[in-house]
Amino acid sequence: MLIPCPHCGPRAAEEFEYGGDASAPPTIPTEATPEQAHAALHLRANPRGPHRELWYHAAGCRQWFTARRDTLTHRFLAEAP
Ligand SMILES: [Zn+2]
Repeated sequence: MLIPCPHCGPRAAEEFEYGGDASAPPTIPTEATPEQAHAALHLRANPRGPHRELWYHAAGCRQWFTARRDTLTHRFLAEAP
């Protein structure tokens, strides 16, 4: 599988580390119980279809970037400008 690094171009997936969901960061209300805080920080949706993700090019330019990937096909999609 090739991952399109915006700095280096397409590179082998083995050069990258997955950084997780790139949508809005978790928010924890100040009055949240420990269980609610745990759920907000650690329980993530597992969407089917196009999804924004964080990737780190560890064996290349060592830059973080966001990419859209279809979780059903694993194909990377062009980012909207
Ligand atoms: Zn790179």
